[in-house]
Amino acid sequence: MSLFKHLLRNPTAKSYSYSSPSIIMPSNLILTCLSHFTTDASPSTVQLTQYSGLGPTKANEKPRVVVLGSGWAGCRLMKGIDTSLYDVVCVSPRNHMVFTPLLASTCVGTLEFRSVAEPIARIQPAISREPGSYFFLSHCAGIDTDNHVVHCETVTDELRTLEPWKFKISYDKLVIALGAEASTFGIHGVKENATFLREVHHAQEIRRKLLLNLMLSDVPGISEEEKSRLLHCVVVGGGPTGVEFSGELSDFIMRDVRQRYSHVKDYIHVTLIEANEILSSFDDRLRHYATTQLSKSGVRLVRGIVKDVDSQKLILNDGTEVPYGLLVWSTGVGPSTLVKSLDLPKSPGGRIGIDEWLRVPSVQDVFAVGDCSGYLESTGKTVLPALAQVSYEQLHLFQKPSFLLARNWCWFFDVCSLTSILNRLQRGKENTFLVY
Ligand SMILES: Cc1cc2nc3c(=O)[nH]c(=O)nc-3n(C[C@H](O)[C@H](O)[C@H](O)COP(=O)(O)OP(=O)(O)OC[C@H]3O[C@@H](n4cnc5c(N)ncnc54)[C@H](O)[C@@H]3O)c2cc1C
Repeated sequence: MSLFKHLLRNPTAKSYSYSSPSIIMPSNLILTCLSHFTTDASPSTVQLTQYSGLGPTKANEKPRVVVLGSGWAGCRLMKGIDTSLYDVVCVSPRNHMVFTPLLASTCVGTLEFRSVAEPIARIQPAISREPGSYFFLSHCAGIDTDNHVVHCETVTDELRTLEPWKFKISYDKLVIALGAEASTFGIHGVKENATFLREVHHAQEIRRKLLLNLMLSDVPGISEEEKSRLLHCVVVGGGPTGVEFSGELSDFIMRDVRQRYSHVKDYIHVTLIEANEILSSFDDRLRHYATTQLSKSGVRLVRGIVKDVDSQKLILNDGTEVPYGLLVWSTGVGPSTLVKSLDLPKSPGGRIGIDEWLRVPSVQDVFAVGDCSGYLESTGKTVLPALAQVSYEQLHLFQKPSFLLARNWCWFFDVCSLTSILNRLQRGKENTFLVY
């Protein structure tokens, strides 16, 4: 029964003082838009003496579940939450969810970008309708678990319609679903010169560069050498994403480039660089099949370790220089800087440590889901990979039909169970959990 105690609303929620002397209120408009925020500043005051935010919920209000992140895990959780029982507040720098398995297809126009992005408000309509539920386009900058508060900062995408703005949100339950960050292993020049493939804007950038290079390479005066460089697409990382993207590119070359850019069709090439074998975590047959298919479709497979990345070439550790026009970096993911900085227990590999109920032990009312979380060693469970099958043990334990629909998404199932825990708990049906 200790689980239920953890999940019950903290009855002694303190009232928080939001004092921060240096916050500037940029315009009265913001005061209007954010009028649901607790703040002592009057609309005519330009300098705020208080840090705005959503204060603790009152006894007659629904408890507030704050979800950090709008990826697979956060969205699955929000979709399932019963908003007649909870208010939901989502904080994320992205107002849509990305269906990542199809992202590679958008880079070459097989799919349109809008086909892989789903607005959060469609996934959980309450966030744009219910008076106590919101989506905030912001980064989480820190978590104060002692006071049940999340620190946030708005995202303006450098458009400067508003200076970045800081605020706080009190939570009754906090679900951390911050995902992971692309690993660069500290290799010089990767962040500056390579494109990652994790967001819709990455796919847009790849498509733009690819088309631009195709156009530029046909312009009079371009040397043969420069033409080959511009049309050399290099993918670093032979995991599922790198392999899938290389396959998409070679299909694009064989079908579209040959027909629509036939002047330059003999210059365009795809090289996939991998330190070990491609798809090393998959079984031999699949690896062999992928290697054969990629080679057949003209993808050059190179075994090597990238040492340095320049704006037009990369250098392997044996000194080989590889000129490129498009460089896509896909060497796996690791915990984000924010996750690393949080003073929370960590699982092997540095993710946020969770118990078998997805709770973060040692702090109250905090859960972590998705790629940012991993089972603590003490649970005896292995940390699930970012892409993994749900363990049979969990399947037998929970027997959720939704899992069967999404068995590739290991934590999908876990998230479903967390959603149902929260919902049922609030309906006062704690006994249901005894069957687990
Ligand atoms: C191209 C590609 C293809 C893939 N294909 C497959 C596949 O076929 N099968 C499979 O099982 N897996 C696949 N994956 C992996 C899968 O997408 C991830 O495992 C999954 O997205 C993890 O979900 P998540 O919710 O934990 O993190 P994410 O989906 O990455 O979501 C993290 C969320 O946190 C937000 N966030 C980040 N920092 C902050 C912050 N400071 N404050 C607030 N919010 C923040 C992000 O904006 C995002 O909304 C693929 C991944 C990629 C990139």
